[in-house]
Amino acid sequence: MTDCIFCKIANQEIPADLLYQDEHIVAFADIAPKAEKHLLVIPRRHIENLNDLTADDEALMGHLMLRLPEIAAAQKLTGFRTITNTGKEGGQEVFHMHFHILGGSELPGF
Ligand code: C5P
Repeated sequence: MTDCIFCKIANQEIPADLLYQDEHIVAFADIAPKAEKHLLVIPRRHIENLNDLTADDEALMGHLMLRLPEIAAAQKLTGFRTITNTGKEGGQEVFHMHFHILGGSELPGF
C-alpha cells in the first residue's frame, strides 16, 4: 500500500529508528510515547488489523508474538503491556496492524 505511513517506515522510505527488523516484522519507537518506553511492532506486509488476517497468516502471527518478549527484553523491559487496537471503534488510528509494547515503569492495572 503506497500511502501507508507504516509501510513507508518498514521500507525505510521515511526515517525511523528501527529497533528490530527481520524478514517479516519491524519494531520502532512510537513517535508520541504513552509510557516511558513505547514501541510498535508491525508486519512488513500491509495487513490492516486483526480482522484482516487469514489462515495463511498463522506462521507470521506466531513469529510476531514470539518476537514481542525478545524485542521488549532487548529494550531492558522485564515487564510490559501489549495492545493492538482493531478498527476505528477499537481506537485504531493507523490502519497497518501494529502491536504496542508499553513499559519502563510500573503500569497501572488495566
Ligand atoms: O493503535 P493506534 O492506531 O491508535 O496507534 C497508532 C500509533 O502510531 C500511535 O501511538 C501513534 O503515536 C503512532 N505513530 C507513530 N508514527 C507515526 C504515526 C503514528 O509512531 N508516523
